[in-house]
Amino acid sequence: TKLTEEWLQNYVDDWVSFYHRQTEEGEVASYIPILKEADKNHLGISIISKNGINIHSGNVDIPFTIQSISKVFMFIVACMERGIPYVLDRVDVEPTGEAFNSIMHLEMRQVKKPFNPLVNAGAITVTSMLYGDTSDQKLEALFQLFERMLGFRPKLNKDVYESESETSVRNRAIGYYLVELGFLESELELTLETYFKQCSIEIATRDLAQMGMILANDGEDPKTGLEIIPRQVARLAKALMLTCGMYEASGKFAAYVGIPAKSGVSGGIVAVAPPRIREDDLPFLEGCGIGVYGPALDKQGNSVAGIRLLRHIAKQWDLSIF
Ligand code: GLN
Repeated sequence: TKLTEEWLQNYVDDWVSFYHRQTEEGEVASYIPILKEADKNHLGISIISKNGINIHSGNVDIPFTIQSISKVFMFIVACMERGIPYVLDRVDVEPTGEAFNSIMHLEMRQVKKPFNPLVNAGAITVTSMLYGDTSDQKLEALFQLFERMLGFRPKLNKDVYESESETSVRNRAIGYYLVELGFLESELELTLETYFKQCSIEIATRDLAQMGMILANDGEDPKTGLEIIPRQVARLAKALMLTCGMYEASGKFAAYVGIPAKSGVSGGIVAVAPPRIREDDLPFLEGCGIGVYGPALDKQGNSVAGIRLLRHIAKQWDLSIF
């Protein structure tokens, strides 16, 4: 039987209302003061497949800041500007098992480069590699990438940027370690300003789903056939998402959900279900991107209801890449 979009929509609506009731369990991030204003009972999901299926369910119209999800796309932009070898000479691709803002490994004397681009130390290092003398110049390539993926230019949330910038003692501490170790390619204040701005770009679940869908399609826009991200760079980004994308819960996410994903502290998750070579009725097996928003977080900083919802969907639709 051919599954219709409406049929799929009904399923997702049911699952969202079920997991909506579990949003009570986590806590909204508070270390960036303004993020405390988020409504912890929100939960929304968007799914966009390569072959044009669009499903949106729950609180999908709430804008939120991209936060750590920007690390994936900044890494992509750095690889496109500088070339993969240049970037990987300066940042490793190993999971840490530590919190995203851990300083620990930077204090180990023998460290040659930050562990990976999806924890803060590695992400700030990647941000330092981008061309530009001002933060807006450095961010231009990121905005252009978003524009090519989404068809519009997302906006910066100035309040979130300022809130983070004013309260960023830990990221500054990481920054000073990076300077001491000689890892930064641009001046510290400029690099941090750029990093805080990239985290403050405002998006919604459908945008994350669209970005995920392009990654699922190895960087190519399925509508136009144009290459937005080089295939090799898209593959690398997905490998990093799978091994490092969910902070120190990445192993569990790979085991229980089994698809590349990246979360952010405002409660967003982008997940990528690559095409599967298998005869099946499920249209999603052609590849899809999933965007989730649920600001109540677990201790690792991942959306509680968001992860449960993804786990459920991945199981029902057999999305695991393994
Ligand atoms: N702006 C955040 C920070 O560096 C991003 C962290 C995150 O989403 N985990 O603290």
